[in-house]
Amino acid sequence: MSIEASCFEGGCTCRFVRYRMSSRPLFVHCCHCRWCQRETGASFALNALIEAERVQLLQGEVETVDTPSSSGKGQKISRCPKCRVAVWSNYGGGGEAVRFIRVGTLDEPDRLPPDIHIYVESKQPWIVLPPGAPAVRGYYKASERWPKESLERRAALLAKAQLQA
Ligand SMILES: [Zn+2]
Ligand SMILES: [Zn+2]
Repeated sequence: MSIEASCFEGGCTCRFVRYRMSSRPLFVHCCHCRWCQRETGASFALNALIEAERVQLLQGEVETVDTPSSSGKGQKISRCPKCRVAVWSNYGGGGEAVRFIRVGTLDEPDRLPPDIHIYVESKQPWIVLPPGAPAVRGYYKASERWPKESLERRAALLAKAQLQA
């Protein structure tokens, strides 16, 4: 795969914020929880999980807004300071090392369909998942669902975090 093909660019609506993911994400979540429904004002959130160090701000800056989360640990949502569109978030659990990129802010969001549907227990009933699409009622264990390469990348992140601790 060429570098071009594994690179993803995106940004906010007013184009003040532009960013690039330097590789494919670790995994893509389609989250049907009520919190994501409220935050998007829609039916689900589509998040591409990727190492923070693989996200480069090409232009502009983001404003980080502390926002409650269902886990109680909170999340930090990074928004364009001008148009306020959210481009990514960091969750309490994953810390700063993993970013949840909002797939809809990518220039070519169609390239990242979900790897898993989560919290389908609160999925809005008119949404019909494709037959065979991986789906769980609540959350899941990465070790059981992520591809080998992503688990290796995760292990590298954890090792690094321990070195810094
Ligand atoms: Zn903007
Ligand atoms: Zn959610």
